[in-house]
Amino acid sequence: MSDSLSATCHCGAVRLVLPAAAAGVLACHCTDCQKMHGNFNAFLAAPIAEITLQEADALVWYQSSAENRRAFCGTCGARVLKEVTPSARWLISAGLIDGPSGKRIIRNLWSESKPDWYDLPEVAS
Ligand SMILES: [Zn+2]
Ligand SMILES: [Zn+2]
Repeated sequence: MSDSLSATCHCGAVRLVLPAAAAGVLACHCTDCQKMHGNFNAFLAAPIAEITLQEADALVWYQSSAENRRAFCGTCGARVLKEVTPSARWLISAGLIDGPSGKRIIRNLWSESKPDWYDLPEVAS
């Protein structure tokens, strides 16, 4: 297994590399994630300093709350990441990971905000 994972958007205009040791997969069921992802947000988390943004010309930023901003691909619309600015972390959308990740969902966040149309995903023990 490589010690890094690559992540690309649907059109390929956004590409980044993150450490395979990134925390995750975490599933966030908060209302912000629901509105922006269309469902829960499955992501891997790592310090910004450990992530390399290789292709970012199409990245569009959106200030989603006072302390967080999110980035999507302006060409294909893929939700790329959420930045938790105070802790200098990026939460990379799990669906952008290329190839096997070796990861499982390890935790559900904001379960109480989950909509009524799905059951919480199973968490790996
Ligand atoms: Zn794209
Ligand atoms: Zn969320």
